[in-house]
Amino acid sequence: MKEFKRCIIILIDGGCVEVVEDLLSKDELPNIRKYILKNGTYCRGISAYPSATGPAYAPFLTGCFPGTCNLPGIRWFDRYEFYSKKRVFGGLRSYIGLESVMMKRDLNKEVKTLFELSKNPYNVFNPLSRGIKFSRNIPHLLNPYAHFTHRWEIVDKTAAFFIRRALRKSNPDFLFAVLPAVDGLSHATGPRSSRVIAAYKKIDEMIGQIIGELIKQKKFEDTLFIISSDHGLTDTHTHFDLSEFMEKKNFRVLYYPLIYKRNINAVLAETGNSMANIYIKNGNCWKKRYCHEEIEEKLLKDLANREEISFVLTRGGKNEIYVNNKHGEAIIREKDNKLCYEYSKKDPFGYGLENKWLSYEGILQHTFNSEYPDALVQISQIFKSKRSGDIIVDAKKGFDLRARFEYPEHKSSHGSLCKEHVQVPFFINTKIKRDKIRTIDVFPSVLKLMGKQYTGLVDGKTFI
Ligand SMILES: [Zn+2]
Repeated sequence: MKEFKRCIIILIDGGCVEVVEDLLSKDELPNIRKYILKNGTYCRGISAYPSATGPAYAPFLTGCFPGTCNLPGIRWFDRYEFYSKKRVFGGLRSYIGLESVMMKRDLNKEVKTLFELSKNPYNVFNPLSRGIKFSRNIPHLLNPYAHFTHRWEIVDKTAAFFIRRALRKSNPDFLFAVLPAVDGLSHATGPRSSRVIAAYKKIDEMIGQIIGELIKQKKFEDTLFIISSDHGLTDTHTHFDLSEFMEKKNFRVLYYPLIYKRNINAVLAETGNSMANIYIKNGNCWKKRYCHEEIEEKLLKDLANREEISFVLTRGGKNEIYVNNKHGEAIIREKDNKLCYEYSKKDPFGYGLENKWLSYEGILQHTFNSEYPDALVQISQIFKSKRSGDIIVDAKKGFDLRARFEYPEHKSSHGSLCKEHVQVPFFINTKIKRDKIRTIDVFPSVLKLMGKQYTGLVDGKTFI
C-alpha cells in the first residue's frame, strides 16, 4: 500500500451527487477528472444525520457520527446544562453566526480530530477546529457578509487563495478546507440554478490551481487528495412553521432568534431546515428527558399526520426508537451492534427488511440506494447524543420546518434522512476497496494511508 506524506480534504458544502455526476458525465469537471480520477476513485458516500453543515463535518474529522460527537444539530439544546444553570455556554446553541466558535468546545472530549493527530495541520473556513493553532486557522469570517449579500463566490475564491498560500508557506501535513458557496447559493437560488452550477465549475478550476501548486513543489505524488461534501439539497416550495405549531399546542417555546423568553416549557432547534430537535419540559424540571411513552399521544399523532413531515422520531423507555408517520408506527431495536425494525401498517422506509437483524455494514449494503439510505443506523446514532431532542422531526422533500425569522428565505433545504440530502459525492486520488462508504470511514482510512496508528474512539471502518 502506498503511504502518503500529507492529506488535503476539500469539502464542498452542499455538493449534490446528482449535480456532480451530471457535470462529470458532460466533462465539465476536467481538473477533477484529470488529477483525481486518473489513478483514483469516485463513489457515492453516506453522510450523517442530521445531514447539515457542522454536525456532518464531524465524521470526516473524527470518524464518529454526530451522535457520538454530541453535535445533534446546527442548533441544539442541552437540558442537563440548562438545568444546572450554565445556560450561556452550555444550554443552547446555534452554529449559525458567532456561536460556531463553540463547536470545538462542544465536541465530545473522548473523540480526537485529524488536526490533533497531525504534526502540522492547517484549517480553512471550518468551525470544527479543535487541535488547530491560532496562526494556522483561517476562520470563516466572510460567511455573515455572504449570507446577507448572496456574494458567496468571493468566499470560495478567498478559501482557494488561503489553501494555495498555506501550501506555499506553511507546509501542512493535513489541510482541511470548506468551500461554502454551493450551499449558500443553493439556499438562496435553488440547488441547480445557473449560479450554483457556475460555482461547481469554479471549484473544479480552483482545484486545478491547488493541484498545480502541489505539482510545482513536486508534492502531488505523495499527497492524498479527497473532495467530498457534507450533504445534498432539495428545492423547498413550502415552509411549515413548527414553532407556530408548537405554540398553538399551548407550549411556551424557545427558538432562535427569540431566545430570551422566561418560563419556557419547550425548545425547538431546527437544522438545515429539514430536521428539528424538540425538547419538552418534563413536569417541573428540565433534568429528566421525556421518553416516548410519556409524550402526549395527540401531539405525536398531530405531528405525524402533517403532510409536511416524513417521520416523527422518539425514544422509548427501553431505548427502542419509535418512528411515526401518517402510515403508522415502526419500532427500531438495537442489540450487540445489530439493528432490527418492525412496523404496524406500512414499511416507513420501504426496505422490505422487517424483523431482520442486520449489522451496520449489512444496513449500508441493503439500503444504500433506497429512498432513505442507512436510516436505521442514522436514527440510532443521533439518539446516542444526550443533546438530541425528545422528539425529532424530519421534513418531507419540498418542505422545511422554519418559516418566520429565516432571512434570506430558503429556497432549498437539507438535514433530513432522504437520499438527496444524505448521499454525497466522494473523490479520492487512490483506489479503494469498497463502492459503498460512509463519511465516518474517511478518518480511519486517511490515518491508514498516512501510516498512522490510532486506537481511540471511532465509529467508521477503513475502506483501504
Ligand atoms: Zn445549508
